[in-house]
This record gives sequence, structure tokens and C-alpha cells, in this order.
Amino acid sequence: MDAERLIRDDASVTHPQVYDNMSSVSDPASDVQSCAHCGFSWATLSRVELATRMSGAVESFVNVMKAAGSDVAARPSAQRWSILEYGGHLRDVILSIRERVVLASVLDVPVGTPIFRDERVDIGFYSEDTAADVALELQVVTYLFLKTVATLPEHFEDRKLIYSDRTPLEITIASALLNALHECEHHLGDAFEDLTLLESPTS
Ligand SMILES: [Zn+2]
Repeated sequence: MDAERLIRDDASVTHPQVYDNMSSVSDPASDVQSCAHCGFSWATLSRVELATRMSGAVESFVNVMKAAGSDVAARPSAQRWSILEYGGHLRDVILSIRERVVLASVLDVPVGTPIFRDERVDIGFYSEDTAADVALELQVVTYLFLKTVATLPEHFEDRKLIYSDRTPLEITIASALLNALHECEHHLGDAFEDLTLLESPTS
């Protein structure tokens, strides 16, 4: 499916060491692809299944942020973001995909604007993020996102969009929704890995 290629391609534009883990592999038993790093499958889900998994992943992410305590803003290595930065990124991705879904509900195959994930961090837009703020923001944007999913008119999942001119692949709204869930579950894994690395810095 094109959805995962889109994430991988967008990820490779800058800081590839951070994003190469978004690559995917094909399941030889079917056309469904999965993430080589986290195992996420782009198999079709119902809206209820999507909402349940996304809520659960974000709730778990917030719990990892709490568990990290003062380490939440620490980068375990130069190649990784901090848990707080992954959280800020996830917040912005959820907002970004929500806007793409709304746009694609109105226009035929709209081309979105890249999220500029690294630039947001490098310029300093996350520099005043606190764990308490990001936890609340993640919960709010997830609620907004899932409200959009719940109110999406029937059959609108089939409408098409293009993420951006950096990733000129035509995907459906259904794929965009799965991408959002993948971001939540994948970065939850990143946060757990950060936590493990921070607790065992010499390993
Ligand atoms: Zn993944």
C-alpha cells in the first residue's frame, strides 16, 4: 500500500538516522504491508477499532512521559529525539493529518503542505514544551482527531489526497487515518526505547 511508503519517503528527507525506522516490509502472504520497525500493519480497521487503538497508544505515551520523570527531555543519543520531542512531534502529526482529512473531504485530491518535522524542532518551536503541556495537548488533539473520524461522512474514506509535493503519492483518507494510528503506535515504541536507553545509559 502507498501509505507506508509515504511515511518512509517523507522521513528520509532530513535526519535519516531518526526516521529510517519508518521503513516497511511486504507481507508475502498478502498485499498488506507492515512497518519493519514496529510491526504495524496497514490492514483495514473499523473506525471503532482505530479509535480504541489510537486512544490506547496515546494514553500509554502519556504514561511513558510520566514514568520518564525528569528524563523526559533527555536525548539518549544524538541520533534520537527525547520522549518530549517525540510527543511534540506526535501532537503536530495528529493535527496535520486531521487537517488533511478535512481538506480531502472538501477538495478532490488536494496536495498538502509538508509537516517539516525536523525544522519544527531545529527552529525551536518545541523549546517551551513541558511534559504536562504535551500530555494535555496529546489528549486534546487525539480527541479532536477521533471526533473528526466519528463524523466523517460514510464512504469518505475512499476520497483521495496527496500528502505533499515531497511525497507525491495519491492515498485515500482511510490510509491517512491508518498513518495517524501508525505514528501513535510507532512513536510509543520510540518512547519506550528512549526510556530503556535512559535507564541503562552504558548498555
Ligand atoms: Zn512503525
